[in-house]
Amino acid sequence: MHRSPQGTRIGTAGIAVQIVGSNWPKPHYTLLITGLCRFQIVEVLKEKPYPVAEVEQLDRLEQYTNGIGELSELSQQFYKYAIQLVEMLDMSVPVVAKLRNLLDRLPKETLPDILASIIRTSTNEKLQILDAVGLEERFKKTIPLLVRQIEGLKLLQKTRKSKPNDEKRIVAIRPIRRNNQLLGRPLHLDVVEDDDDDGDDIVMLEKKIKNTNMPEQAMKVCIKEIKRLKKMPQSMPEFALTRNYLELMVELPWNKSTTDRLDLHAARILLDSDHYAMQKLKQRVLEYLAVRQLKNNLKGPILCFVGPPGVGKTSVGRSIAKTVGREFYRIALGGVCDQSDIRGHRRTYVGSMPGRIINGLRTVAVNNPVFLLDEVDKLGKSLQGDPAAALLEVLDPEQNHSFTDHYLNVSFDLSQVLFIATANTTATIPPALLDRMELIQVAGYIQEEKIEIAHRHLIPKQLELHGLTPQQIQIPKEATEGIISRYTREAGVRSLERKIGAICRAVAVKVAEGQHKVTNSSSTHVAAKEGKEGVPEENKSESITDTTDVALPPEMPIVIDRHALKDILGPPIYEME
Ligand code: ADP
Repeated sequence: MHRSPQGTRIGTAGIAVQIVGSNWPKPHYTLLITGLCRFQIVEVLKEKPYPVAEVEQLDRLEQYTNGIGELSELSQQFYKYAIQLVEMLDMSVPVVAKLRNLLDRLPKETLPDILASIIRTSTNEKLQILDAVGLEERFKKTIPLLVRQIEGLKLLQKTRKSKPNDEKRIVAIRPIRRNNQLLGRPLHLDVVEDDDDDGDDIVMLEKKIKNTNMPEQAMKVCIKEIKRLKKMPQSMPEFALTRNYLELMVELPWNKSTTDRLDLHAARILLDSDHYAMQKLKQRVLEYLAVRQLKNNLKGPILCFVGPPGVGKTSVGRSIAKTVGREFYRIALGGVCDQSDIRGHRRTYVGSMPGRIINGLRTVAVNNPVFLLDEVDKLGKSLQGDPAAALLEVLDPEQNHSFTDHYLNVSFDLSQVLFIATANTTATIPPALLDRMELIQVAGYIQEEKIEIAHRHLIPKQLELHGLTPQQIQIPKEATEGIISRYTREAGVRSLERKIGAICRAVAVKVAEGQHKVTNSSSTHVAAKEGKEGVPEENKSESITDTTDVALPPEMPIVIDRHALKDILGPPIYEME
């Protein structure tokens, strides 16, 4: 309802025929309304909860059913312009051809409203036409708009002769969709007025596709899809789907890779500094790398580390990636029982997505990462197919140069990827898969090894994670021994690491509270005095340089003894043997 220039309140009654839209990639709704008639309020009956009024229909187009009568001259003029305009458009677009037909078939009196709804005018101008009650007025108001549009088109066609492709975009005829029978007066109002943004996005995407160095086959598919995308209304769910697909295609590292660094000496140092013990495993990994260095490529059998949880299988995989200078990506296979997890879903329904291999490649953005297939022994099986079979294709050097993910539907070369697998046991690994891999057993650690691992690796790592320094916490070997024998029972060191983490958290609370106390009581000299007595000799200089502003609370460093262990971790879970 709006106020007309004459001051009367003229409304347009309409029926919402269709509301389509989506919230993704950004909210966009299109409302298709078929106008019924103009009306005027005679009396407002009630305002709440919604206004109800008695109305009077203003325009009565029925009176023209036997011809336009004296208005025929105006109507002829209007018809002539309308035809001229439509014929300037690209007739190969189905909507335009349909519109051309409609111009001949529809009663002339309905034409002004229809054309006003589809030519490019401001909302204000459109409203003015809705305000025009008499047919003569309607013709008079729409003719100048048609003429203006025709002139604009002529001008644009002149300037754009060199770029014939752009002509389709000259007029914003938005596709009038499906059940638009044009019985009354259809108004196709776009709630979001300007969709140029998305047009630009598509142009950008097209540019990106052309600049991406992808194989010919993939490029062909992309070009076909972008053509489809251009013709698709944004509100269609398929629009987002196709766009996602194309974005993935652009992001995939078709030709991007890192350069390998095959230096055995450096590899030995790095493996040694990252991991204590595990001599056999490290030796085997070095042999593997040595052969690769001699052959100057990283192709070869797939290593599979087999051992109990927490013995450092994943962490060795990460070290290998670091050693050879490759990106690392872990794919957890535990519980995967659908082959589309590996190979993706076909792009036939909303929500389909690529498999984990392609996802991993997208994340690391290079085509030669180290993929750690974690827990291959925990692969499941289900009605949705056998993921192990899909994995076989991924791992087989004869096949994996043309691995086809169902979502991508074009092949991607996996031959540069270095696969490493881990498993807790070989018993449940499917035999065909087992056959492809070279097994390296990783045994658990004995107590002494665990203590060394804790002091060399786990404690420094946890301290750093919790923002603590050795001046604030000390975990003597006896305490570590206590944790290992009384609080954990495992082959690896994972729960040991967790317990150390718990201790660090508890100490962090104390340290933070201590700082608070010291700063609050402004007793800096007390802290200094206490510092002199409480901090052991070797830490004193550091505590002054590094943490003077932190102002050490009195009992620093906090030493973890048996009592502290009991306080923090609770009573021992296991009795000493
Ligand atoms: P897994 O993959 O075998 O289950 P992880 O690789 O996740 O075990 O190891 C758990 C933790 O133990 C990691 O933080 C890892 O760094 C550490 N760790 C295990 N073994 C060693 C070792 N020999 N030297 C240093 N750290 C180790």
